[in-house]
Amino acid sequence: MNIPSVNFHLWQPCNMRCKFCFATFLDVKQSVLPKGHLPKEQTIQVVGQLAKAGVKKITFVGGEPTLCPWLSQLLQTAKQLGMTTMIVTNGSRLTPEYLDTIQPHTDWIALSIDSVNAETQLTIGRAVSGKIIPEEGYEHIAQMIKDRNICLKVNTVVNRFNLAEDMSQFIVRLQPERWKLFQVLPIEGQNCGTVAPFLISDEEFKQFVKRHIHLEQIGIAMQPEDNDAMTGSYVMIDPAGRFFDNVSGELTYSRPILEVGVKAALEDICFDYSKFVARGGNYAWQNEAKMS
Ligand code: SF4
Repeated sequence: MNIPSVNFHLWQPCNMRCKFCFATFLDVKQSVLPKGHLPKEQTIQVVGQLAKAGVKKITFVGGEPTLCPWLSQLLQTAKQLGMTTMIVTNGSRLTPEYLDTIQPHTDWIALSIDSVNAETQLTIGRAVSGKIIPEEGYEHIAQMIKDRNICLKVNTVVNRFNLAEDMSQFIVRLQPERWKLFQVLPIEGQNCGTVAPFLISDEEFKQFVKRHIHLEQIGIAMQPEDNDAMTGSYVMIDPAGRFFDNVSGELTYSRPILEVGVKAALEDICFDYSKFVARGGNYAWQNEAKMS
């Protein structure tokens, strides 16, 4: 069993309403987990079992993971167990005080930013109660992250409404260590009612990547993932503590990790290690600033 890194979608609720969101987990909420998350002790146990199984890096995702009141404790547990830690967040709750709290246990923060155009953000639904984060707001958040020796990553979903955008100057100002570009992905049962107007072809995705590829020359590692690269190449855990995969075009869930253990639960899903490597999943993720 070789699972270097996992994405733990520990918190189903989110304060934004992106229409292409492929991690809504409304099915999980309706079927097995009305609150949209496990109790605190159980999430900590899941993290413990993953560390015991040899996982080296854990990324806490949602919904919006910063809504979880015990996220800092989970990060601390993961760090104490020797894992590299990351959160993927929409950034709306990252105050200086919050960042100070999680800083000792957080190696990476991935900010989800699809556009710096207010109209595009609103069309996507990337807003909290109709309020977007403006360009300078993202720059301020990025600076706060870097000031605390936390590595910065940016995640962007390329879709019909940001397809023509040139984000180069903005990304240069942010200076993330990595910029991950996803081709918007339709997933049955997650975004099937809302994603259609956002879909783009593989060729359109390539054009967006090509427009920005020059950023690699100034040290920004770009990681483009089209729909195929995103499929079967992640080890993911849902808010109910089950592995899941997206190979069939909808989410397939394993038995709960806390009931059957990591090894048996992992056998229930499809994970292609070679695709994980091919999409650049095995990069040098240690936070050097924190190790020195
Ligand atoms: S911020 Fe992320 S989790 Fe929340 S709705 Fe948007 S894509 Fe989904």
